[in-house]
Amino acid sequence: MPILGCIADDFTGATDLASMLVSAGMRTIQTIGVPQEAMEERADAVVVALKSRMIPAEDAVAQSLDALAWLKAQGCEQIYFKYCSTFDSTPAGNIGPVTDALMQALGTSFTIACPALPANKRTVYNGYLFANDVPLNESGMQDHPLTPMTDANLVRVLGAQTRHDVGLINYATVRQGADAVQRRMLALKESGVGIAVCDAIDNNDLHVLARACRGLPLVTAGSGLALGLPANVTERLNHCDDAAALPAIAGREAIISGSCSRATLEQVERARQHYPSFHVEALALADDYERVVEKALKLSEEHLSAGPVLIYASASPDEVKQAQAKLGVSDAGALVERALAEITQAMVARQGVRRLLVAGGETAGAVVGALGVQGLRIGPSIDPGVPWTTTIGTREPLALALKSGNFGAPDFMTRAWGMLP
Ligand code: ADP
Repeated sequence: MPILGCIADDFTGATDLASMLVSAGMRTIQTIGVPQEAMEERADAVVVALKSRMIPAEDAVAQSLDALAWLKAQGCEQIYFKYCSTFDSTPAGNIGPVTDALMQALGTSFTIACPALPANKRTVYNGYLFANDVPLNESGMQDHPLTPMTDANLVRVLGAQTRHDVGLINYATVRQGADAVQRRMLALKESGVGIAVCDAIDNNDLHVLARACRGLPLVTAGSGLALGLPANVTERLNHCDDAAALPAIAGREAIISGSCSRATLEQVERARQHYPSFHVEALALADDYERVVEKALKLSEEHLSAGPVLIYASASPDEVKQAQAKLGVSDAGALVERALAEITQAMVARQGVRRLLVAGGETAGAVVGALGVQGLRIGPSIDPGVPWTTTIGTREPLALALKSGNFGAPDFMTRAWGMLP
């Protein structure tokens, strides 16, 4: 039975958390949404990936409670509500309302809020969140289109979103170690505080906080706290040293890229020099969709037996703008996503592709949907935030790496294959 059950408010955040848990020694499964059935896979941790960051608070609460019920049914002992390390939220939610609902459902009157992720320069001091060494409200996050963060003081920010009193476990306490933190937790709890914002500046602070969270029914945090939680249950982790091990999956290899982010464009350029490739053009799709899909599949059929094939829609800002001007922004995106998903599905069903790299967040969503992926076993990281995984729910398991646009080094698409068993 899994020990740790996690509820993540978006997909890439879920993968980030899952990778962190694997690197700290927990075998981890990530599910896409709340599964309908019981989990058959063995794992120490399960991360349910929701898309609840930006939706209305009541919907986020309902989805999170569904996820909680499923995780409890799988036997999870501690629940981890994972949000963004920049605490993306508004006075309406969703961090506060979801935390309140989870606390109530778990019958607990105390939890922590710990967004710190020092590796990505997200630190908390005296309750103030810093991003890239400046207060959150000067970091650019004050201009975020959906969740503008205009106050770096998390005690205030969270206080506006929750029914509970919000307190602080400050840096002086964290520096004294886990026992001091636990004493402070108790004192705060006795004084009526329901949620304590935690200071943390480096990874050692996160280890201290994680140790102090032993036994708490609920923690809420960015992915950083995951560094330390597995150590609380080391004696129960049988596969601590090979938590990232994946079953070997043989088959043909393909790269699907729908991301137009700068990092991806560079990766595609590199990959084009190594592998046969086909450019899926948005305007050509609008003109004769079937013909483009057919041509892509003809190229892959010809070359897959010799090595990886690259199918990419990724294009320069000019080309994208042209397509968007003609087709509309969202219609252009949807058309390209549909085509890439259909091509991928056909390559898997008819051409023997079993090992896949997919670039682009929305693109990955479309591909995963078309393939019927229900969950992922998380393996070794290719680059930070991008692990190899194997799929759960597909007719045959696939090796799959889902890369959000700006992730990965320039040689990502050529180097990744060497990391598979
Ligand atoms: P990222 O992770 O880089 O944001 P996404 O896949 O989430 O990548 O988003 C990229 C979007 O751009 C997708 O909707 C994709 O279909 C669309 N797109 C990709 N190539 C083109 C293109 N050539 N013209 C127009 N839209 C495109």
